[in-house]
Amino acid sequence: MAKQGRRCRNLVLVPCPFQGHINPMLQLGTLLHSRGFPITIAHAQFNSPQTSNHPEFFFQSLPDGISSKPDMPREFLVFLSSLNFNCRAPFQEFLSQMIEIQKQQDQQPCIIYDALMYFAETVASHLKLPSIILQTGSVASILTYFAYPRLRGEGYIPPQDCDSTELVPGLHPLRFKDLPSNTFDDLDDTLQLIDTLSNIGSSSAIIWNTVDYLEQSSLVQYQQKFRVPNFSIGPMNKIASASSSSLPEEDSSCISWLDKRGPNSVIYVSFGSIASVDAKALTEMAWGLANSKQPFLWVLRPDTVHGAEPIDWWLPEDFRETVGERGCIVNWAPQQEVLAHGAVGGFWSHCGWNSTIESISEGVPMICRPCFGDQKVNTRYIGHIWRTGFELENDLERGKIERAIKRLMVEKEGEEMRQKAAELKEKTEISIKKGGSSYNSLNKLVEHIMSV
Ligand code: UDP
Repeated sequence: MAKQGRRCRNLVLVPCPFQGHINPMLQLGTLLHSRGFPITIAHAQFNSPQTSNHPEFFFQSLPDGISSKPDMPREFLVFLSSLNFNCRAPFQEFLSQMIEIQKQQDQQPCIIYDALMYFAETVASHLKLPSIILQTGSVASILTYFAYPRLRGEGYIPPQDCDSTELVPGLHPLRFKDLPSNTFDDLDDTLQLIDTLSNIGSSSAIIWNTVDYLEQSSLVQYQQKFRVPNFSIGPMNKIASASSSSLPEEDSSCISWLDKRGPNSVIYVSFGSIASVDAKALTEMAWGLANSKQPFLWVLRPDTVHGAEPIDWWLPEDFRETVGERGCIVNWAPQQEVLAHGAVGGFWSHCGWNSTIESISEGVPMICRPCFGDQKVNTRYIGHIWRTGFELENDLERGKIERAIKRLMVEKEGEEMRQKAAELKEKTEISIKKGGSSYNSLNKLVEHIMSV
């Protein structure tokens, strides 16, 4: 409980409807619920969470007018803009009713919203309710976006050479090739979104799913830009008890498959919930995995390759026969359980922030294959700052993939990265224990919520 005898205020959480955003928001809900706060999840109809997995929460669905899944990342900005526009009125109506019902009580609800759901701040401010932002990306990646207006003003973006290895002024250790290049395609719209997100309005604090020791200098820089309290309370996947917030059903058969493998022998391959590859790259991945001779667990979502054909349609004909029991393929895995399994010795990932922090918190070294958005920034930090992995660059080609897997799984260099990853896991565990930075931040956040 927040404090003996003090009644906790209602919290209304507004997640952005993508898996990588829903997970940390529901984990935050679980954390705050365990501190005594009644939690309502006000969510879009699109990608609506599995309410039955969370009987402890109230759910409020917001009509969003979204009729089809956006083609990502191409349609992201348009999608986000419609989502914010369409959800605003129903959210305001819902909150007004909530305020009316709770008139008798002397506490108002507090709104915690995903930074991308900025309509929530507009409504909260209009109704004079307190609000707090949840940033679901790394601090470094958000700082990168916020540097865009300056970089554009100084003529650095869009860069002449998106693959340049020159350092970006003021963004050490990022090189131009580490900037989210998809954002240059519609730079004006991106800058407009950054401008919207840079204005935190009446929000009184920012919550991060990160750990102080991982992003100390980025946090200091962020704090200089936004002079409100910042609470880094991650990794939330390790603090919140594990009710699944998966949108697809998890295939747990891979856990019994993992149980039969030796320690650190399996490479886990997953590109998160959105990133896709083309058919040729998928074939190269398949043969790279087969030729590496390492056991692998591969998440192949039905939409991993553009189009809705069954996965076997894309896989080489004799692939399953060739790898036999050495390979396990699932549509969707219980990723946190997979990464925590002793048989998993490496993670070939697209480096979304959740996958990155989940991997760090389980001490699993990575092969990084970023696709778009913040993934390149995370990749640079993994390879250059935390040194728990390396990037697989250029075209996906079977020989290169085979070598990368061996480098991580059997060679000395991979062993050193595993050692480094184990050290970060230990530091992370310390940070969430009593007296640790995330533990203390969470307590301060609870006090903050009670005081605003
Ligand atoms: N995930 C999962 N099962 C899978 C693949 C992914 O549970 O088979 C989860 C993963 O644990 C993470 C989230 O989906 O929490 C993906 O978020 P991330 O930020 O890594 O990438 P995104 O999907 O946003 O690109």
